[in-house]
This record gives sequence, C-alpha cells and structure tokens, in this order.
Amino acid sequence: MTAKITLIQDDITQLSVDAIVNAANNSLLGGGGVDGAIHRVAGPELLAYCRSLGGCETGQAKLTPGFSLPAKFIIHTVGPVWQGGHQQEAELLASCYRNSLLLADQQACRSIAFPAISCGVYGYPIAAACELSMQIAVEMSHCLQHVRKILFCAFDDKLYQAWLTALAATQQH
Ligand code: ADP
Repeated sequence: MTAKITLIQDDITQLSVDAIVNAANNSLLGGGGVDGAIHRVAGPELLAYCRSLGGCETGQAKLTPGFSLPAKFIIHTVGPVWQGGHQQEAELLASCYRNSLLLADQQACRSIAFPAISCGVYGYPIAAACELSMQIAVEMSHCLQHVRKILFCAFDDKLYQAWLTALAATQQH
C-alpha cells in the first residue's frame, strides 16, 4: 500500500498524529522557530529526555515521546545550514526526510507530519527544499510498511504554495 501525501497549513504542535518532526539543532537542547514551539508545548520533560540523547548529527534523526503534545512521538532531525548549495545541503536535507520516515515506520507510526526543515533560520531556499522533500516522500511512500499518511505542515502561505507546486509537479510525471 502507498502512503498518502497531504498538505496542511497549521501549527505542527497542535496536530494529533503519531509523530511530528522537529527541525532541531545538533545539540537537541532546544532553540528557536519550530524547535522552540515544540519544546514549549511538549513541556520540560522533553528537554530532560533530550539531554540523555547526546545530540544528533546533521541528516540523522532521533525519537522521543511527545510528552504533552497531542502527537505520540517527536522525531528530531537536524537539517543542513544553507551555505550556497555546494556543501551537500541537498543530500543532507534528503537524509533528514528519509531517516525521519524510516524511524516513524520502525515505530509503527501510521501518520507523520513534517515542518519545512531548514527553511527558517537555516536559510534553505524554499522552492528547492519543498521540491526535494516532496520527491523523497513520493519515493518512500511506496516502501513504508506502517506509515499511511505523510503530512507537510506549512506555517505560512508561501510554504503552502511551494509545497503545492512541488506536489503538482510529482503528479505530472
Ligand atoms: P531551521 O533551523 O531548520 O531552519 P526553523 O524552526 O527556523 O528551522 O524553521 C523551519 C520551518 O518551521 C520554517 O518554515 C518555519 O516557518 C516553520 N515553523 C515555525 N514554527 C512552526 C510551527 N509551530 N508549526 C509549523 N511550522 C513552524
């Protein structure tokens, strides 16, 4: 069976899905943007738990409980900082999406929601990031055992439109 890909415009911390993905930093000890929002809603137990994880490499992903979030799990992944495009940013961003999906599948999650990893302070160009994330989701949607729903959660109109364009492009092939 193939996982369904859906776009929504929302605050990811409010979603009742099995797993939400956090665009974290290497320390996994919290930060601004979506990371800050997730820590605020999940509560202080999240930071305490994250301290035991020993950080996370760029492109990799680690799992925690969702604590006070409606989501059961949080998958923390670290996107690349955009440095012009020649520092393996695309490979690393693709790894974030791939590894997060694999981790969700290993946990038998049926639904997972992604924010636009690296598209905030890390500065990844939005159209390129949305295209890449959509490609990975389409590729992976055929080989996941448990994940049935992959949500892309845009925080603003611009991201929503970029993902919509990327989704439409995959459907033309
Ligand atoms: P990064 O450091 O990976 O660039 P940011 O948190 O700065 O991560 O931004 C990643 C994306 O998350 C941005 O597009 C930002 O608009 C979005 N974002 C911020 N807060 C939320 C939220 N509560 N829900 C969903 N997306 C969010």
